[in-house]
Amino acid sequence: MLRLPVVRHVAPTSLDEVIELLAGDGAMLAAGGTDLVPNLKRRQYPEAKTIVSLRRVAGLDGVSVADGGTIRIGALTTVARLATDDAVPEALREAAGAVASPQLRNRGTVGGNLCVDTRCHWLNVPDTWRQAAEPCLKAGGEMCWVAPAKKICWAVSSSDLAPAMIALDASVRLVGPDGERTAPVGELYRDDGLVHLAKAPNEILVEVIVPAPQGRRAGYRKLRRRGSIDFPILGVAASFRLEDGRVNDPRLVLGAVASSPVRVTAAEELLAGRPLTDALIAEAAELAGKSVRPMSNTDLTSRYRKRMVPVFVRRLLEDLAAD
Ligand SMILES: Cc1cc2nc3c(=O)[nH]c(=O)nc-3n(C[C@H](O)[C@H](O)[C@H](O)COP(=O)(O)OP(=O)(O)OC[C@H]3O[C@@H](n4cnc5c(N)ncnc54)[C@H](O)[C@@H]3O)c2cc1C
Repeated sequence: MLRLPVVRHVAPTSLDEVIELLAGDGAMLAAGGTDLVPNLKRRQYPEAKTIVSLRRVAGLDGVSVADGGTIRIGALTTVARLATDDAVPEALREAAGAVASPQLRNRGTVGGNLCVDTRCHWLNVPDTWRQAAEPCLKAGGEMCWVAPAKKICWAVSSSDLAPAMIALDASVRLVGPDGERTAPVGELYRDDGLVHLAKAPNEILVEVIVPAPQGRRAGYRKLRRRGSIDFPILGVAASFRLEDGRVNDPRLVLGAVASSPVRVTAAEELLAGRPLTDALIAEAAELAGKSVRPMSNTDLTSRYRKRMVPVFVRRLLEDLAAD
């Protein structure tokens, strides 16, 4: 049995206290803890000394719809609530419903899901296994054992919610020592498995803001080995409006193929302004498949996952066209 390392656990009641505590040496933020705790048990964060819990901070939980239809989702809203709340767009409900298992969805939060650490076959194992070789980049070593020729960490972005949020043009509100800022979800990520979030470590994601759908069709499809519980090895999110039968403002986003979610702009450009025929869907799906090379750092082979990209894109676009 893997045991937690000895760490201090604190649960302040205000954001100011959380921010102050996070400035401390070896402090780490926890929300539901469903990813952080297993990672701690595997000794992935040897520097961790204090776990700062967000859970006692009031006002970070819940879904509300403003007058214009803008949807605000608190960072501590559980993934289970997101999956079942009628106020939430279907694409987000689909993505949330595909996260992990019921127990993990009941405990895991929206903020934790968007900030969830990148994953790697090499790193996400007990430390006794890792001792077979020198530490990898993400464990403080000199090279990535998955792609030794590369100079960056190849751990994979594994959030189900992130691609769907990007496809819906959602933004995040972040609060940190220098105040507050809002940024599109897409700008929260860096394509680097080591430092995958473009935010300061003591900036806290407090809220997600999803624009009013205004007729936008959107969905999410996920590939994983076990339907009942597994991280994505491919996630596909798409959204668009249909105006006079033509595609308007399309988004196509892939998850679990790189260290950050990937927007397939070539396919978006192909779709924009054209009638959504079966032929166009097939062409866009093929283009999406050609435009990515999934990192060979998850379950099943990169080659198989690449072949699944056009299949999943086509199925999703066909479903959205038929809606
Ligand atoms: C067996 C298993 C299967 C899983 N399957 C999936 C899956 O299929 N899809 C998927 O997307 N995830 C999966 N997960 C990961 C995880 O359970 C979910 O992503 C969950 O939603 C994370 O939320 P949390 O609140 O528990 O995050 P935590 O574990 O508390 O935190 C995760 C990370 O986010 C940071 N963080 C948390 N909240 C905030 C915030 N508000 N602001 C800034 N940083 C924050 C933490 O510091 C930590 O680095 C799985 C986990 C396990 C153990």
